Amino acid sequence: MHDIVVDAHSHVYQYSREELEQLLSSKPSFLIVGVGEDFDTSKMVVELAEKYEGRIYPCVGVHPWNIDGGTGEVDDVLSLAMAEQVDCIGEVGLDKKFVIETFDKQVPVFTRFLEYAKENNMVLNIHAAGAWREVFDLLIKHDVSRALFHWYTGPIDLLKDIEYSGYYVSINAAIIIQEKSKRIAEKVPLNIMLLESDGPYNYRGLRLNSRYILEAAGIIGSLRGLTQDEVIRISNENAMSLFNFNTVVS
Ligand SMILES: [Zn+2]
Repeated sequence: MHDIVVDAHSHVYQYSREELEQLLSSKPSFLIVGVGEDFDTSKMVVELAEKYEGRIYPCVGVHPWNIDGGTGEVDDVLSLAMAEQVDCIGEVGLDKKFVIETFDKQVPVFTRFLEYAKENNMVLNIHAAGAWREVFDLLIKHDVSRALFHWYTGPIDLLKDIEYSGYYVSINAAIIIQEKSKRIAEKVPLNIMLLESDGPYNYRGLRLNSRYILEAAGIIGSLRGLTQDEVIRISNENAMSLFNFNTVVS
């Protein structure tokens, strides 16, 4: 079994300190990619990444559910990224599934982040619920090279375009109870697959956390004829390629 398992997308600041430290000290332990949802939570993620250096990898962003702060907040988040030398923008993106009424406002905000990521060769940790193709087209349009489609439940036929363009997708630990994730896991090219929890999000009564990734890896393994350990190794290696962690995890 691997000593460290990468969780490619988590809202780390939402855990209690005790719960977070348990995740970071358990066996196996986790290297958690933490995302922000607005300026304040982005700052919290950066602070946690400083405190748990090498174990929490920070991303800063404005979630498409939180765009009310407008472009001023985007400027603040990007200043934070620059000041703290953050290499990842997230959670950002577009959402046509849960907040379609703000879609027109989401696009310019996401575009700002895309332009900034392109200019600074940063990774994007992306929310694209109900807008998978729109997000993909914008990534191509802005010539972005490093991106993760988090909790991928988009069209199967988009996966080959994502692979061809050098992007990645993450399978959420909700695969334990989510049939849609199982359908994706059956088809996803393994060279673009990462694992994530989106913890501590509550999905239909399942309070997600990094530890569920282990069970998820077993399920994906059974769908693909691999061991749990092989699935984790593949995900860890893909995460290394995408994020360029300083900590070696595979
Ligand atoms: Zn999230």
